[in-house]
Amino acid sequence: MNIKSRLPEVGTSIFSVMSKLALEHQAINLSQGFPDFPVSEKLIGLIHQAMKNGHNQYAPMPGVPALRQVIAQVIDQTYQRPTDFETEITITAGGTEAIFSAIAALIGAGDEVILFDPSYDCYDPGIRLNGGIPKHLNLRAPDFKIDWNEVKSAISARTKMILINTPHNPCGAIMQEADMRELEKLALANNLIVLSDEVYERIIFDGQIHQSVLRYSALAKQSVAIFSFGKTFHATGWKVGYTVASEAITREIRKAHQFITFSVNTPLQFALAEYMNDAENYLQLGKFYQQKRDFFLEQIKGSSFRPLPCFGSYFQLLSFEGVSKKSEMPACRTDREMATWMTQEKKLAPIPVSVFYKDGLDQRLLRFCFAKGDETLQKAGRILKTM
Ligand code: GLN
Repeated sequence: MNIKSRLPEVGTSIFSVMSKLALEHQAINLSQGFPDFPVSEKLIGLIHQAMKNGHNQYAPMPGVPALRQVIAQVIDQTYQRPTDFETEITITAGGTEAIFSAIAALIGAGDEVILFDPSYDCYDPGIRLNGGIPKHLNLRAPDFKIDWNEVKSAISARTKMILINTPHNPCGAIMQEADMRELEKLALANNLIVLSDEVYERIIFDGQIHQSVLRYSALAKQSVAIFSFGKTFHATGWKVGYTVASEAITREIRKAHQFITFSVNTPLQFALAEYMNDAENYLQLGKFYQQKRDFFLEQIKGSSFRPLPCFGSYFQLLSFEGVSKKSEMPACRTDREMATWMTQEKKLAPIPVSVFYKDGLDQRLLRFCFAKGDETLQKAGRILKTM
C-alpha cells in the first residue's frame, strides 16, 4: 500500500530520542523536561477520594465546572482579568492538545502562522497538519529577543496567527511589557489571533513578572492563552491543561477539542479544583525553581560551559563553545553530535538546541533540565566540570 505521509521529514521527537538514549547508556537524564520531585500527597489523596466518590465517567466536554470556576478566580487574582468560566475556559489533555485544538479550530488551508525559532517541537507540525503555512523567524542567542520590525515585514494578507511562548522553552527567555505592547499593536492592526503558550507561567525568576496576554485587555480579546497543570504541580504525566480565550474563539476551539479528546480525566479535574483553592500550593513555585537554577549554576562554576541568561522555565542553556576546543574532546561538529557523545561517553544527557530551528541554526548550545533533586544536579555538575 502506498502511504502518503503528511509529515515526511518528521521523525521521533527529540525528547523521546534523548530519554531513550539516556536510559540505554544509564546516563543522568537532563534532556526531556520533567520534574523528578514527588507529587503532593494531599493532591494524590484528593484524586483517590474523587475516584471513590464515583467521579469516574466522562467529564463535561469543556471541563468540570468547579475546576473552571477556580481557574477563573486564579486568573483574576493573577492577571486582573475577569473571565467567564462557562464560555472562556476549556480543560484540555495537556498544553499540547490545547495548542493542537486551537490551531485545528482556527487555521485552515493556506493560512500563515508566524512563529519564532527555536520553537517547541509540536508547533510547526500542528500548523502543517491543518493545512497552514508556518513562517519561522529566528531568535538568536544570548537574549533571543523578538525583532518586531522583522515581524511586521513577515505579516502578509494571509497571516492569521502569531504563536508566542513565554517563559520560553528551550531558551528560558521571557517577554517584557514592551514586547507585549508591540504584539498587541500588530495583532490589532492586522486582525491576528495570538496563540500564547504560557505553560511555564509560574516558573519565573529574579523578580520578573510573567507577561501573560491576559494582562492586556485588547490583546486578550484576540488571544488564546495556554496553561498546564503538569508544570505547576510536578505531574507532567497527567496531561491536564487549559485554554483561556474569548467566547467567540472558545466556541471554535471546543468544536475541535470535542472531536480530538472529547473530555479530560474526570477525577483529576475534581482533585485539581479543590487543590487549586489554596494559593500556597502554587505561589512558591518560582522561588523553588530559582533555587534550583542557582544550585545548578553553582555546580558548574569553573567548568568550560558558559551559561546563558535564564529568567524562566526549568531549562538552562549552556554554550559548549569553550569546551569543544579542548584537545581530549573528539571533534563534535554539531550540537547534536555533542549531545549524543555526552550521553554515551559522559553519561549526561542534554537536548541540542538546533533541533528547534527550522533551518537547523547551530549556536553550539545545549539545554539542561534543572527540575531535579540536588544530588542529581551535583552529579551532573561534576560531569560537566570534567569536560
Ligand atoms: N515539554 C518537555 C520538554 O520540553 C517534553 C515533552 C515531551 O516529551 N513531548 O522537554
